[in-house]
Amino acid sequence: MRASKLYAPTLREVPAEAEIPSHQLMLRAGFIRKAAGGVYTYLPLAWRTLRKIEKIVREEMDGADGQEIAMPIMQPSELWRESGRWDVFGEEMFKLNDRHGREFCLGPTHEEIITDLVRNEVRSYKQLPLLLYQIQNKYRDEIRPRFGLMRGREFIMKDLYSFDKDEEGLDVSYKKMYDAYTKIFSRCGLVFRPVEADSGAIGGSNTHEFTALAKNGESEIAVCTKCDYAANIEKAEAVVLYPQDENELPLQKTATPNAKTIEAVIEYLNMPIEKSIKAVAFQDEKDRLICVFVRGDHEVNEIKLQNAVEAVNLRMADENAILAAGGIPGFMSPIGLKKGTMVVVDETVMEMKNACCGANEIDMHYVNANPKRDFGEVMVKDVRLIQKNDACPHCGASVDITRGIEIGQVFKLGIKYSSALRATFLDENGKEKPLVMGCYGIGVSRTMAAAIEQYHDENGIIWPRAIAPYEVVLVPVNAKNEAQMKLAEEIYTELKKEGIDVLLDDRKERPGVKFKDADLIGYPLRVTIGPKAVEEDKIEIKVRKNGKTIYDTKDGYVKNIK
Ligand code: ATP
Ligand code: MG
Ligand code: MG
Ligand code: MG
Repeated sequence: MRASKLYAPTLREVPAEAEIPSHQLMLRAGFIRKAAGGVYTYLPLAWRTLRKIEKIVREEMDGADGQEIAMPIMQPSELWRESGRWDVFGEEMFKLNDRHGREFCLGPTHEEIITDLVRNEVRSYKQLPLLLYQIQNKYRDEIRPRFGLMRGREFIMKDLYSFDKDEEGLDVSYKKMYDAYTKIFSRCGLVFRPVEADSGAIGGSNTHEFTALAKNGESEIAVCTKCDYAANIEKAEAVVLYPQDENELPLQKTATPNAKTIEAVIEYLNMPIEKSIKAVAFQDEKDRLICVFVRGDHEVNEIKLQNAVEAVNLRMADENAILAAGGIPGFMSPIGLKKGTMVVVDETVMEMKNACCGANEIDMHYVNANPKRDFGEVMVKDVRLIQKNDACPHCGASVDITRGIEIGQVFKLGIKYSSALRATFLDENGKEKPLVMGCYGIGVSRTMAAAIEQYHDENGIIWPRAIAPYEVVLVPVNAKNEAQMKLAEEIYTELKKEGIDVLLDDRKERPGVKFKDADLIGYPLRVTIGPKAVEEDKIEIKVRKNGKTIYDTKDGYVKNIK
């Protein structure tokens, strides 16, 4: 390709709306242009990089037994109603009607379509496992489309879906994809971590996000400083114990007081069950105590404060109201608990509580006692998001909090969609069973943006070679000089013959302009053909990433470039 013909309009001024380097640089270097909020045209340079990323993705998907297909972007509402997601998906879904009033959406994802495809064709366990994928535009009406390709409303995704006969099969498919993702992002030259993630709305139990480390990333992740533990902090919880503070406690998890045993409550709260936990208290949104679960010596008592709910505001510590409702004020009133707070009460406190129960009946003065003095130390057990320097849940070393970009996600779906859409097969014993599914996405266009976030400097992009639009830019210093142009043309032909992606900057521009553009666009190597090359057989090769310059002869330079 010749630069004189390349459609890569560069910009001197960056639109103010471009806040982060990848967005700014893609606009400045002529990679993308905006058509609407979150909707972009990819110009030739961007398209070349995207196709290189896609090629890597395809090779690894095919290598992991994936088969490429192409599903419709336009999807009928019926399937989404069958899975129950038509209304659940909400405003993020682009919906449209045909001329007969039938409803469709523009695919934000393809679980429904693919499950429908497979349920009509797969009959027997012998056809499994089956891994199908596609690379295409996805549509999501994001609340805040921003950062250019990072969060678009139309974006390119690779999505693969696996179908297995059982959980063990799913484990194998999941591992295959996990490994393939590791290869893909390594081949793209990215610095990334697979992180444990939350299942969220899509369902399923086991999932990892592949996160490219970048300070502008929208994900916050906890990374162990010692082992390879990493988790999205939405998932990374730390259990902490600290003394009850009379004034304010951090917001707790929402919990339901419907559970019948303390273990059920603890399980609901997703906390480890420990013997030391003797009581769990719940409050409603207005901080009113709803109930307390107390483990006595032999039984679990749920103390409901139905009548007190209206009256009890624990900050006011209205013990009389608690008493009137049959509560145990001595125990509850000092505890300014929020919903789901777990109170660890030691044996002494339990004794006090029992004493207090008795005391209620005979002494009303008791309620005015100083809770701290009477109850000793009351520890509050809290689950909160993991913080810097918390202990790593795997090895106990300290964790660090950092930011990153979610570039891919692997997900065990199980039978969520196959059971809803009745996608079944016959197992070895002729028994009908739902297919066990997984889904695996890669944001192809977001990966391109992530690479720029990781690799750029004040002069422009620094492409990892595997995904650079061109590997080499060949710059004759003076395009009007016949000898330079002749040598440049020879080298151009030779490099192409060697299978190297080369762009010849044959524009009749000043060398400074060409060098600036070369740095801005970010070609990994720049080969300069000036007087030295013509007269002294010294070909200059400049490495974009470290600024180093090497000289080589016309006979020797190719191996240096390779
Ligand atoms: P996010 O948390 O950033 O909204 P997601 O978890 O909703 O992403 P998935 O449903 O997991 O996204 O889709 C698979 C991949 O598609 C993501 O890992 C991400 O790389 C990419 N992706 C998702 N939404 C967008 C978007 N709006 N623009 C560009 N890429 C996206
Ligand atoms: Mg999303
Ligand atoms: Mg996400
Ligand atoms: Mg995701």
